[in-house]
Amino acid sequence: MNSTATAPNMGTTMARLLPLLLFLLVGVVLMLTRQAGPRATRDARTFRPRGRARARSAAGDDGVVTLRRRDLAGLRDAYSAEPLDPARPLVRCSGCQALYHAHSASVLARENGGRCVTCGATGFAAVRVLEG
Ligand SMILES: [Zn+2]
Repeated sequence: MNSTATAPNMGTTMARLLPLLLFLLVGVVLMLTRQAGPRATRDARTFRPRGRARARSAAGDDGVVTLRRRDLAGLRDAYSAEPLDPARPLVRCSGCQALYHAHSASVLARENGGRCVTCGATGFAAVRVLEG
């Protein structure tokens, strides 16, 4: 008597749990796929600082860096914090790619041992600015 009474009860418990488990599983899968999409693209944007990769690849063998005028838009002299003026002579730190007016670099040479204020490197490359 008892065994026949408990067996159906077990069955209903399982029947009640199964959809719940499926629901949880679907929920987890949905969460994973939803997170993977947008997060992947956000990471790609975060790990690629604008302009740096481009600027690095533009470095020539002669030690002169060629940048486009529009690459300088919105950038500032790493020492004086002035907006970079493409009409003035510019240099770029070979360590961290920080840009300086040549005048700022000469101040660093005098007062900071020629070291970049951002990373402490001593190598600076002249910058040639292309129009466009
Ligand atoms: Zn630097």
